[in-house]
Amino acid sequence: MRTGADYLRSLQDGRRVYLDGERVADVTKHPAFRQAARSLANLFDIAADPALRERMTFASPKTGAPVWRAFQIPKSAADLKARRLFCETWAEATFGLMGRTPDHVASFFTGYAAAPQVLAAGGNQKFADNVVAFYEFMRDNYVYASYAIVPPQIDRSKPAHKQSDPTLHAGVVKERDDGIVIAGAQQLATGGPLSDYIHLSCIHPLQPGDENYANCLAVPVAAEGVKLYPRRPFARAGNNAFDYPLSSRFDESDAYVVFDNVFVPWERVFIYRNVELSRDQWFKTPSHAYGNHQAQVRYVTKLRFMAGLAQRMNEMTGNIAAPPVQIMMGELAALATVYDAMLLAHETAAPVRDGVAWPSTVILYSAMALQSELNGRMLEIIRELAGSAFITLPSSAADFDNPEIAADLERYMRAAATDAKSRVALMRLIWDFLGTEFGSRHAQYEKFYGGASFLVKQNVFRNFDFKRATALVERALNLPEVE
Ligand SMILES: Cc1cc2nc3c(=O)[nH]c(=O)nc-3n(C[C@H](O)[C@H](O)[C@H](O)COP(=O)(O)OP(=O)(O)OC[C@H]3O[C@@H](n4cnc5c(N)ncnc54)[C@H](O)[C@@H]3O)c2cc1C
Repeated sequence: MRTGADYLRSLQDGRRVYLDGERVADVTKHPAFRQAARSLANLFDIAADPALRERMTFASPKTGAPVWRAFQIPKSAADLKARRLFCETWAEATFGLMGRTPDHVASFFTGYAAAPQVLAAGGNQKFADNVVAFYEFMRDNYVYASYAIVPPQIDRSKPAHKQSDPTLHAGVVKERDDGIVIAGAQQLATGGPLSDYIHLSCIHPLQPGDENYANCLAVPVAAEGVKLYPRRPFARAGNNAFDYPLSSRFDESDAYVVFDNVFVPWERVFIYRNVELSRDQWFKTPSHAYGNHQAQVRYVTKLRFMAGLAQRMNEMTGNIAAPPVQIMMGELAALATVYDAMLLAHETAAPVRDGVAWPSTVILYSAMALQSELNGRMLEIIRELAGSAFITLPSSAADFDNPEIAADLERYMRAAATDAKSRVALMRLIWDFLGTEFGSRHAQYEKFYGGASFLVKQNVFRNFDFKRATALVERALNLPEVE
């Protein structure tokens, strides 16, 4: 199986990642990406661990070799559970703080391969064959893809083809015998600088006239013309792992992708200039459901970590026995439990369509729709309970090394049951979770990773059983006369 070392070596491929006005020579060595790359490499090693073979792999139907369960097409609730356990094992390794680990986009391609007939609609069999072949290639080679499926936010008032320049949004600019040429930008490839492939498509609603942007394809990150512009990294500021324990290890990076006339061979094109399929790929195949099921597994792990952080904080401040604190912690725990329960409900209410099990979409989208609001509420509870705990700390770990002040720090910054350094380590961990730039980006991530909340709520609207709900109303309106 592909190991972490194999993965790290493969990232040294000449990819074009630009930071602070310079091209990054090697993402595995650059301080902005080095530790996140190692955190991802650890996932490859976990999956390759013979002791975890049953939990993390299944036999490839093509080669018989053990391959990641993220690529297993679920046929039953038991298979969905196996998928959850795979994703959970990876999520626990990053405390749920890396969202676009390789199982995320793997799940989308598994969804396409589970229902390739959708992409074959309208005589497009060759594109359906391409997507199945690429899925098998990913599966059998442990490929890590990131994706950019939202057009750049340049001018949301106009569709893609009416932008001031038709090559702003990533789209086809040329068709050749052997493939197509893509130009333009797309957001927002989280993990892009550290992945093998970029999956380019569009989940934003398109309209007639937007055909050039209605595609689905995959290109190697190092392909000629692919350029990645990551946001400001947090890992660099976190060069002190004591003061920035999470930023320094789990900053997965979010990158704007520019396609500078990138050639894509036909074999890697899965939807071509088809507005209808551009929409159907997400909702008529289980791709969006599998990808976001992984996202919910990751989120539930993060919530468990969040509850643990809050509990340890209250122990440290000595407030844990106070009834009002316990009531607020009860609210936090209730919200975390609702998400946990919804995750389990995905499996028990999973419909099987054409022999393939889907996680319940109404449950999935309901969880996602409320996440953008409830996540903020949970963070607010922790801030409320913290008081000044994150602020009344020394300026950095270096202060502990100054003999002139060390005694003061030990005397005044300790907690009742622990020394000062242990207390500061915990408070730094929580602050990095919710208050640093890393923490703040996470709050934004939980709001928007699955699209703006008004779009997710429309997904709930489309999936909720209003027929059953309104039938109750009909019955109430037609009750027998009261005697
Ligand atoms: C940290 C992070 C990581 C991400 N990672 C990825 C990734 O890996 N791959 C990927 O493809 N995408 C990713 N995304 C999602 C993404 O690219 C977009 O941020 C997301 O889809 C929202 O789109 P937008 O930013 O263009 O917001 P817009 O669509 O411009 O919406 C912004 C806000 O405007 C308001 N609004 C706009 N239109 C309407 C309307 N019609 N009705 C009501 N309100 C409206 C809403 O308040 C909305 O929340 C990520 C996002 C974040 C924040």
